[in-house]
Amino acid sequence: MALGAVGILSITPFAVWRWLRHEYWLAGLDAGLLAVIAIAMIWAWRGGQIRHIAYFATLPVSAFAATISLVSPESGYYWIFVAILTNAMLLPRADIATLLSLVVVIVTLLVDSPHSVFQHTTIVVTLVMTILFSYVFATRAENQRRELENLALSDPLTGLDNRRAFENAIEQALHEAAEGKQVFGLALLDLDGFKEINDAHGHEAGDAVLRELSRLISDYLRASDRLFRIGGEEFVLLLPGADVAGMHARMENLRARIESNLRCRGETVTASIGASGWQQGDTATTWLMRADAAMYRAKGKGRNRVVVHGLSALA
Ligand code: GH3
Ligand code: MG
Ligand code: MG
Repeated sequence: MALGAVGILSITPFAVWRWLRHEYWLAGLDAGLLAVIAIAMIWAWRGGQIRHIAYFATLPVSAFAATISLVSPESGYYWIFVAILTNAMLLPRADIATLLSLVVVIVTLLVDSPHSVFQHTTIVVTLVMTILFSYVFATRAENQRRELENLALSDPLTGLDNRRAFENAIEQALHEAAEGKQVFGLALLDLDGFKEINDAHGHEAGDAVLRELSRLISDYLRASDRLFRIGGEEFVLLLPGADVAGMHARMENLRARIESNLRCRGETVTASIGASGWQQGDTATTWLMRADAAMYRAKGKGRNRVVVHGLSALA
């Protein structure tokens, strides 16, 4: 929005000035660019995807800079610097931003320069330097953004996806299920008596159990299944294609594996699992509530068991 505002404030006087000088073609070019910036700003204001808006805005800015440098080479060059910075700042990928800027500079070099050889060389060298600096800046920003995304979406203890990642994934699953592309099962897993384990053996031993548990579950999952740690000793599995009976069988298998393999200082550690299939009209809350209720029934029935919603005979 800030970049858009600066763009509009800077370009409007040029559009007016060119109109008054009867340079209608150039005034039209300026007006077109102003319209693109205004549309991009309204789009951003209405919550559009920044990635899409960035491409929508940078391509015309680069085309404008190249055109103006071809049409009026004595002053048009200066817009290329603005285009290079716009690409580096807005585009999500540094390589695409740099490629686009290079294309603009190469187009610019095709112009018969009205400048002296020295001036022309200076323009080329400063343009190339600006592209290189922008590339370094954009690459660093891209890496930092990726690192932040990783930090925001993963759990440091187990390396699994965290609650925030789960919130994104369940929305995606609801969307796919509602469109009829894929059905999903949702399973909540909670360790039994974990507070006692911590109290008896210490927090570090508890942490080791959590890491071992996440390794055990991960090894058991299929490639399309997803596992999240959404709380202290609470995990969620999102299982594409799982019908309730199949889900019960798989979760029962997982529960048995945990019982036979998960140990803390030689003591057996078990888990309770509650699961529910997707139902028409579900929201994240209604779906999770059914799985949660099933999990509490598993706890109520004495723990170390699986309860699948709508499958009470088997549970
Ligand atoms: P229940 O069988 O009813 O689930 O009993 P519980 O003791 O497992 O349940 P509760 O929710 O009372 O206790 C969960 C415990 O998990 C409390 C807390 O000490 C422990 N915990 C939560 N996060 C962590 C963690 O990151 N590391 C360790 N070591 N313990 C944690
Ligand atoms: Mg718990
Ligand atoms: Mg527990």
